[in-house]
Amino acid sequence: MKIGVLALQGDVREHLAALREVGAEALPVRRLSELEAVDGLVIPGGESTTIVKLARSFELFEPLHKRIAEGMPTYGSCAGMILLADRILGGTADQETFGGIDMTVRRNAFGRQVESFEEPVPIEGVPGGPVTAVFIRAPWVEEVGPAAQVLARVESGPATGRIVGIRQQHLLATSFHPELTGDARVHGYFLNMVREALSDDGLSRAKSEGDQ
Ligand code: GLN
Repeated sequence: MKIGVLALQGDVREHLAALREVGAEALPVRRLSELEAVDGLVIPGGESTTIVKLARSFELFEPLHKRIAEGMPTYGSCAGMILLADRILGGTADQETFGGIDMTVRRNAFGRQVESFEEPVPIEGVPGGPVTAVFIRAPWVEEVGPAAQVLARVESGPATGRIVGIRQQHLLATSFHPELTGDARVHGYFLNMVREALSDDGLSRAKSEGDQ
């Protein structure tokens, strides 16, 4: 299984390492041919506005938007979460996203004073107890459509109850940065999503060949 990490900006190396730790073949993606070669993609943290600008100038914006819409398993962390949101609050005027998850995400939601912090957060579907969630000028999910499934919420402090992990079919997003903790369980969860998508693909292909 080949998993790409969008390598325009942000903590690319850490995601590559975490993916390799759970057994994926992990590759940086900077050009179209690299995007075409992967079975799934991680969009790392960084600055969502900058990632969009770079994606446009590397001529990756439309191809990425298309592959995400067509079902490529994609995991967005922090800025990556913003980029998978259908709607955003606190963005720059006409800020674009790739979209795909029926949710409204608020940028820099935890306030400027709390630029970064970490706390244990349990994630549905990730066994072994809470992960240490590292938040860096992080967004949260303010509103969720019926197709999206909430996986994680903040459990203490003023932001208690805020949604920080979400999944909609082939798309996964977290407000926090699991690649910074040395705990690759979230990447393992994503790898399982890619595995499922590939076997669903194989099944439907076998079925349509059988139907002919
Ligand atoms: N605040 C950033 C943005 O709006 C995200 C921060 C991050 O990815 N660590 O894009």
